[in-house]
Amino acid sequence: MIATRTLLSVLAAFATSVAVAGCASELDEPTASTEDALCTTACTSGTLDGDALLTRVDRGSALRSSWAPSTSALPASYALGAQSLREDARQKFMALVDAARGHGVNLACLSGYRSFHTQCALFRSYAERDGCEAANTYSANAGHSEHQLGTVCDLTLAGGGSSFIAAGGTADLWLRAHAHEYGFACSYPNTDRRDNDGYIHEPWHYRYIGVRAAAELKAREAELAGGLRLAVPVFIASLSASEREALELSDEPDDSSAPPSRASDAGASDADGGAPATPDCSTVPFEGRCTGTVLEWCASGAYRRVDCAGRTDGRVACGEDPSPYIGKNCIAP
Ligand SMILES: [Zn+2]
Repeated sequence: MIATRTLLSVLAAFATSVAVAGCASELDEPTASTEDALCTTACTSGTLDGDALLTRVDRGSALRSSWAPSTSALPASYALGAQSLREDARQKFMALVDAARGHGVNLACLSGYRSFHTQCALFRSYAERDGCEAANTYSANAGHSEHQLGTVCDLTLAGGGSSFIAAGGTADLWLRAHAHEYGFACSYPNTDRRDNDGYIHEPWHYRYIGVRAAAELKAREAELAGGLRLAVPVFIASLSASEREALELSDEPDDSSAPPSRASDAGASDADGGAPATPDCSTVPFEGRCTGTVLEWCASGAYRRVDCAGRTDGRVACGEDPSPYIGKNCIAP
């Protein structure tokens, strides 16, 4: 089993080298001195267990070498080679793939769970080839990889060889609009790696953080300026302990408990200043509320309000959003 996984990781390594070939100039960029100081091929255990969905795994925060999730294999039609995920992520991943296929996007998992030791070997092979700092722009040190959580898949198009999905392609666009409905978010979504915890743009790397947290991430992303997207490690690092706890509480045990996430794909923002008319979310229905063109909803216990009439994308009316798990939203009249 371990031998198989190691072999696959080597295959994945070659797939990665193909996928990032177009980013060679980025690899030549000088790296920050803090990264140089951190860069090492020594595989040092972190201190964290990864049981919590929103476990902070990034450059500064690492999992224990002995920590591993309980994982199950993805059925062959959902993966390229043998790939496994933690059960909750696995169920949602299959639902996401099914939904994407319904829209003609044939996704599959090219690289899922990786153990601490697999990541250690993988990173060393990259560092040997490209140097430690360069390798650390597209691959994480052991313990610092989200893949060890068992909640991540690197995505490919089934039947499309072993390349990761491309930025701006149909799969990327579909995932940007719908992945959050299944609790997934792209961990490294920006072209500038300084906005991605130091990693290059990886439109293929999706982490399951739960439907609740994914909706909250999208809502916060909608408030960012200049088309900036919100990287998962940046989002998680920004959460307070109580926010993290609230978002992890339960993940959509039934539809009625799911917070509406109309800010998600639409990019609704508090264009009107967002002054809360009431801080009491118990008075706002779970699916949100329309009063004329004004949309009100609660996300993770926080009251939000936006006047759709102020939008510039044509979705200037308030009404029922047809997407799953979404109630009221700004929609086209
Ligand atoms: Zn990945």
